[in-house]
Amino acid sequence: MGAKVDATVFILFVLTLYFLPTVIAWSRDHDGMVKIFLLNLFFGWTAIGWIGALFWSISSSSASFEPSPATPVQQEDSGQRIRCPECAELILKMAKVCKHCGHKLDSPSENEDVAA
Ligand SMILES: [Zn+2]
Repeated sequence: MGAKVDATVFILFVLTLYFLPTVIAWSRDHDGMVKIFLLNLFFGWTAIGWIGALFWSISSSSASFEPSPATPVQQEDSGQRIRCPECAELILKMAKVCKHCGHKLDSPSENEDVAA
């Protein structure tokens, strides 16, 4: 009885280990999860295929295809925001009027005010 359970556990263990790259890719919601799964499935029995799939799964999703440039937009955006003194909502630093409460703000860059 015990031997049968042990065999099942062993097979499950081997299967889990075999599909470890796929499991990692799936858990990370990897972009190339299907490709990793196929690579894992067909070439996982070769050590190189398995290791390749593993490294692929732990690599960042798009790094292997295109060097994703660090998007400075978000960082800039957070740096460009201040709190409205009236309603304390986050607004753009360049805004002249608060979009939340309509409070007029002193623009720090009046030199660039060419739209007057
Ligand atoms: Zn406001």
